[in-house]
Amino acid sequence: MGTMKATLIYGAGDVRVETVPDPKLLVPTDAIVRVLRSCICGSDLWPYGSKPAQDHGDRIGHEFLGVVEETGADVSGLKPGDVVVAPFVWADNTCDFCREGLQTSCRHGGQWARDGVDGGQGEAVRVPQAAGTLVKLPVAEDSALLPSLLALSDVFPTGHHCAVTAGVTPRTTVTVVGDGAVGLSAVLAAKRLGAERIILMGRHTDRTDLGRGFGATEVVPERGEEGVERVRELTGGDGTHVVLECVGLKPAIETAFGVVRDGGTVSRVGAPQYPEVPADFGVFMRNITLTGGVAPARAYIEDLLPDILDGRIEPGRVFDHTIGLADVPTGYQAMADRTALKVLIRP
Ligand SMILES: [Zn+2]
Repeated sequence: MGTMKATLIYGAGDVRVETVPDPKLLVPTDAIVRVLRSCICGSDLWPYGSKPAQDHGDRIGHEFLGVVEETGADVSGLKPGDVVVAPFVWADNTCDFCREGLQTSCRHGGQWARDGVDGGQGEAVRVPQAAGTLVKLPVAEDSALLPSLLALSDVFPTGHHCAVTAGVTPRTTVTVVGDGAVGLSAVLAAKRLGAERIILMGRHTDRTDLGRGFGATEVVPERGEEGVERVRELTGGDGTHVVLECVGLKPAIETAFGVVRDGGTVSRVGAPQYPEVPADFGVFMRNITLTGGVAPARAYIEDLLPDILDGRIEPGRVFDHTIGLADVPTGYQAMADRTALKVLIRP
């Protein structure tokens, strides 16, 4: 029997907060973390929109930070009381892929809320490969920085990965496709890497206003052909060196190819909801590079952390709603209805 609560998904539109078994150390590399903050990801909305109904709930959530409560015998470098953030996949951080900065391909890693591993939207989590997965944060449990530190779990490193794989530098012009939390994070990441011109394509004024605050120099609300035309007008007909595609739908990748300059790079970090990339002969003739993919957040956390601790960047500004655990079903609906940009959970 359990005493803790966690979020379970039973199917599309059916998320419940229920009592679940208390987490226990299963192997010596595990740790137990009490969750201080979690959040709902745009990618959680895919199962929320389409998962077939089932008679049992599955744990969900892959972004959290919390306090170490207990560590297994083989967990070095962490002790009870440490405040830690978890990236959105767990990894040993020692295998060959991890050493190459690709913890998402870890030979001994995996995903949250899969194969008997807990999800993050609950009161506590058993963390596998804890010494490699968790990053200690030099802050107190009540730090005002917690929202921005939680953004290190997924959304900000994902925007950063998009900008890094695209090769953003002070010399590159940038278009960001999408004004969701990842798109806005990509704006902030491109600005942090020195980009001086950042065109943000998005049509929700409250979101694009935050995008301007993060460093966007121009906003293009038009979509499709009209949006492509607008970006081309703004760039002397050429498009930008780099396009950061942060949506994952086919019209977005088509727009990305439409606004990238010849010889430029399109990076995609929106989980693709299309089976094929429309990279045809025309794209070939223009020497466009397609890059991006799932972000190895763990590889970036230590790099990004000092800027948050110093207050130079505030990626946590993407959280526009804060709820308790009991209200998580409402939080999912608010994100699905686009009335919330990104929902922060305080269990
Ligand atoms: Zn590994």
